[in-house]
Amino acid sequence: MNDEAFDYVVVGGGTAGCVLANRLSADRAHRVLVLEAGPNDTSPYIHVPAGLMRLQKKYNWRYEAEPDASRHGAVDHWAAGKVLGGGSSINGMLWVRGDPGDFDGWAASGCEGWDYARVLPYFLRAETYERPGDPYRGTGGPQHVSHLRGIHPLTEEFVGAAMEEGYPYNPDYNSARHDGVAHAQLSQRGGLRHSTATAYLLPARRRSNLRVATRAHVERIVVEHGRAVGVDYVMRGRRRRVRAEREVVLAAGALASPKILMLSGIGPADHLAGLGISVVADHAEVGRNLQEHPHSMMSWHVDVPTLNVDVGPSAVVRHGVEYALHRSGPAASAPGHALLFVRSPTMSSGPCDYQFTFSPLAFKIPDLAGGDSDDAAHDVNEVVLHDRPAVNVIQCVLHPEGRGAITLRSGDPADRIRLEHEVIGRQRDLDRLVEACNMTRRIMAAPTMARHVIDERIPGPIVESDDAMREFLRFASWRGEHAVGTCRMGGDDRSVVDPSLRVRRVDGLRVIDASIFPTLTSGNTNAPVVMIAEKGADLVLGRAEPIAAFARSAGDESTG
Ligand SMILES: Cc1cc2nc3c(=O)[nH]c(=O)nc-3n(C[C@H](O)[C@H](O)[C@H](O)COP(=O)(O)OP(=O)(O)OC[C@H]3O[C@@H](n4cnc5c(N)ncnc54)[C@H](O)[C@@H]3O)c2cc1C
Repeated sequence: MNDEAFDYVVVGGGTAGCVLANRLSADRAHRVLVLEAGPNDTSPYIHVPAGLMRLQKKYNWRYEAEPDASRHGAVDHWAAGKVLGGGSSINGMLWVRGDPGDFDGWAASGCEGWDYARVLPYFLRAETYERPGDPYRGTGGPQHVSHLRGIHPLTEEFVGAAMEEGYPYNPDYNSARHDGVAHAQLSQRGGLRHSTATAYLLPARRRSNLRVATRAHVERIVVEHGRAVGVDYVMRGRRRRVRAEREVVLAAGALASPKILMLSGIGPADHLAGLGISVVADHAEVGRNLQEHPHSMMSWHVDVPTLNVDVGPSAVVRHGVEYALHRSGPAASAPGHALLFVRSPTMSSGPCDYQFTFSPLAFKIPDLAGGDSDDAAHDVNEVVLHDRPAVNVIQCVLHPEGRGAITLRSGDPADRIRLEHEVIGRQRDLDRLVEACNMTRRIMAAPTMARHVIDERIPGPIVESDDAMREFLRFASWRGEHAVGTCRMGGDDRSVVDPSLRVRRVDGLRVIDASIFPTLTSGNTNAPVVMIAEKGADLVLGRAEPIAAFARSAGDESTG
């Protein structure tokens, strides 16, 4: 090893990595190194919310998956941020904690300390919510959470239509109650994207005890006598090694953290041995348990101009001026404007089963009938706007049964992972998606919305029966960009990390990112990852949990 040594080496400067960088380096006695494979987040397309549509591919890993047999062999490119801030720098900015029952479920499955009452203090610590006054919401945290600056009239009509269909209005789905129809909350501050790179890393970067290396590609963790003691990485074409005197913290995301573990000899012994990798710790579940939210998109032509048609040269100037003066208007917008969280009519309790995301704008989609395997419509880098006024409603099955897996192709770190996952491989998941599509149609037919609808654009009236909808979904469903679960946390010996996020059977090594979710939460995944990193930092530092009194009663109320 060379002379470079830090107390903590954080692998990955993404959503979780930036939170960890800040919290671990707050004590100036700790020397912290963050190794991020991507570049700095200087591009304005990252920070101006509408820039999402113009983001360059270089900020996205675009992990190519194996053909998905449940969707006629479609080949997807799974998005993941490759830049400081990771997913939080390229995502749709929706801020959704999930249902309190999700975390109680984690605790019940053996993840002691992860029930809602025990994670709520970390959500509170993370947040500054722009509407203070609710004890469930944070007001002093680094991560700003805001509402859209300007509401499209059809967003209000969608909210009204959902209420006509019997769903209650929920002023704050991140408070005590998760279900109902609501206006979207975003990781934005003052009309700008508020990634964890901006919220957490930027204020910490001046600390002399924190070093952030970008374009530093980690290949493997160095394990000696059962303890992680350093990291091998490549930077500017040179292979380097750095020593971690206290811990290595893996925060490379759900698709890369298991890859790095396996390249380091931590994974399923037979798989690793077959590739000639010396086994350091046999972990059957590394790379397994991959979960994603099955999604579909429906669309209606409407009689009110929507954001996708307000894009000509004069509109661009108008929106640019509005944004420059007020940080508002379409340039400050995000894809999701209203959210609806619902329990399935066939279920009566527990966390919500479906999320619906309403957008007063519409994208083009590839030739569905042709069975085109191109996923361009759902590729963050290749979104093409539809040319007529139309709205989109996205359906999401929040708790799918389907599971995928990540394995290695070889022991070469430069090789692509093998990513296997079927979006609707389980009949129950497909049936659920059909149910969600039917529910969407009922909302769009409610009087408040129906008066604006010209016709159903996608899938259209030709798709009438449930069987026809199933066939449509075999071409048109996709993933939610919410990969989790590949280094499962659990109380059992087979789990990859224990409830303190320590990798079992290896000392000095934790995983703190989306990989550790035992199961998906009821919503988008960025906010729970921020919470995990906040709590993870305390676990690394051996700190006592913050607050308890309010949290305990909050958890009791929400789950009672
Ligand atoms: C296109 C897209 C849209 C999304 N929309 C939303 C949304 O609207 N709301 C929401 O809540 N969630 C959304 N998500 C999901 C959310 O952003 C992720 O769950 C979250 O960012 C995961 O955080 P993480 O820290 O686990 O991983 P990441 O944020 O992906 O961070 C991992 C970091 O590790 C780096 N890395 C990987 N491999 C290496 C290596 N070998 N060496 C060094 N560094 C490495 C990566 O470059 C990355 O910066 C979206 C995700 C995507 C991709």
